[in-house]
Amino acid sequence: MSAWQEDASRDLMSLGGRLALLVRGEGSSVWDADGRRYLDFLGGIAVNCLGHAHPVFVEAVSRQAATLSHVSNYFASPGQLELAARLKRLAGTGDEGRVFLTNSGTEANEMAIKLARLHGNRSGRTTILVLDGAFHGRTMGTLSLTPKAAYRDPFEPALPGIRTVERTIASLEASFDDTVAAIVIEPIQGEAGVVELPEGFLARARDLATEHDALLILDEVQTGSGRTGEWFAFQREGIVPDAITLAKSIGAGFPLGAMITFGAASGLFYPGTHNSTFGGNPLASAVANAVLGHIEEEGLLANVVARGAQLREGIATLPLVTGTRGAGLLIGVTLSHPVAGAVREAAQERGLIVNAPTDDVIRIAPAFTIGDAETAEFLDLFGAALAAVAETVPSTTEIPA
Ligand SMILES: *Cc1c(COP(=O)(O)O)cnc(C)c1O
Repeated sequence: MSAWQEDASRDLMSLGGRLALLVRGEGSSVWDADGRRYLDFLGGIAVNCLGHAHPVFVEAVSRQAATLSHVSNYFASPGQLELAARLKRLAGTGDEGRVFLTNSGTEANEMAIKLARLHGNRSGRTTILVLDGAFHGRTMGTLSLTPKAAYRDPFEPALPGIRTVERTIASLEASFDDTVAAIVIEPIQGEAGVVELPEGFLARARDLATEHDALLILDEVQTGSGRTGEWFAFQREGIVPDAITLAKSIGAGFPLGAMITFGAASGLFYPGTHNSTFGGNPLASAVANAVLGHIEEEGLLANVVARGAQLREGIATLPLVTGTRGAGLLIGVTLSHPVAGAVREAAQERGLIVNAPTDDVIRIAPAFTIGDAETAEFLDLFGAALAAVAETVPSTTEIPA
């Protein structure tokens, strides 16, 4: 064990991770403490949408830190008002929309659970539907919406009234009844391995929620803020949700999240029912305004779409690859064998950071700013990692006689 690993195991809560000691970043590159460079195609788990140390990010943090960082939720700030108006415009809520700013995705989802309660409790409906494979966060409320046993079982009892729906339209239809207050859905399930919903699933969920006077809440923490090539993934489906939650890319590395409501759901919270000391502070708001403004001015969503297509095309020709899933620059690469862990490791050995959310899927979520050089380097390094692991595959899958 190296010295930093000894420090980590002695001083940090024992929760895994810590694959390298990273000390610096620039663009899509990060460097470890030994000066080794990595091409970062995980982007802090779909967070660093402008890469590392982008001048727009650096300038926004520096300028706002020197002006006004924090004032508490007793006060408003110009940046907070600008961000709320911007998010309403990008999400297309019209005047009726409302925004609450948080510090993380799990907090945005906690607020969405409270939104479901405020809505359902008026008529005694307490069921919240969630999808098989969902991930909504790690706090007690959001953990209750996350069916994965390994995450949840040690912390039972969870919130009551949560019901899991299979990812089929038939299961969706069978799950709705008049106890349902809300259904919470990720448009693409990132943590489950970049899993897409069946065709028409979101539209059917919208219809059923409306019929049963339940809320359709979309967890866009990973898919939102431009990651799929639209500002929000629901905009690819032609539906209007009652609420969406955001975090990850919205601050490009600054901790920030949001819940945005549409229509009548905007009237559910009232003074005293929710708040956050840090949420929407001037510093976080200034960064999000600068980041989202830059994405808009530079037309980076077009780059997300184009680079996503270019990467998919290149990836399809590489060893072990059976296909790709996802949209824009949220890409799941499916493998013919359960060797994603070995591929991730082989990639890191070659100076490439990717992630293995399941045994047979590699996830990439690079910066929206990647160009020809990054795309070519990725395909080169990823191809080499896959080729190296492909050589070991016959022996790892051999069945002993
Ligand atoms: C990452 C993630 C969360 C949790 O966000 P945190 O900022 O880690 O609290 C919730 N939902 C989805 C879909 C996510 O990808």
